[in-house]
Amino acid sequence: MKHFLFCGPSGSGKTSIVQHLLKEFSFMCFSISATTRPMRATEINGIDYYFLSEDEFRDKISQDAFIEWEEVYNGRFYGTLKSEIVRIESENCSAVFDVDVEGGLTIKNKFGNNLLTVFVRPPSVEDLRKRLVARNTETEESLQKRLDKATHELTYEPLFDHIIVNHNLEAACQAAMQKVQEFLRA
Ligand code: 5GP
Repeated sequence: MKHFLFCGPSGSGKTSIVQHLLKEFSFMCFSISATTRPMRATEINGIDYYFLSEDEFRDKISQDAFIEWEEVYNGRFYGTLKSEIVRIESENCSAVFDVDVEGGLTIKNKFGNNLLTVFVRPPSVEDLRKRLVARNTETEESLQKRLDKATHELTYEPLFDHIIVNHNLEAACQAAMQKVQEFLRA
């Protein structure tokens, strides 16, 4: 079974691209991560994430329930549960991972050549700042954390199979679909 990994800074548009692929390709299933960050108004527990308390998350760490987990932002934990892979493979689906770069590299080591890795980047960090402000999901402090992390994440770009520069969401979605199709044919 082939799987797909999308990484890139928060606000790069990778989640929108992943949502587009999930709509277009019925063989794909979203790998629902666990997180301790607060749920946004538009999100649903068990669909977008499994929202856990920090104690629940730490219990899962001690039970070795994660393939990978990271403290992506200070005090905010995110992780891919082993049970997600079991669920997705039992449905005969390809998993689509939307994780940060460190977690992405751990997943890449696990799946090797059966995983397509795509890095989605904004045209610039300034552009990213504008998008995050427009999205209106961040405080001034969490915005700055996300921008600092983005600057760090951009240095990982060369480790990915493909890079999509998201100037325009529609074109970026088309590019992602093409990469998926090429990988399936290879
Ligand atoms: P957000 O809070 O915007 O939903 O996600 C913040 C960052 O955490 C994004 O880069 C997202 O890809 C990443 N992320 C989401 N789920 C996971 C996960 O399971 N593991 C890791 N390492 N990062 C994740």
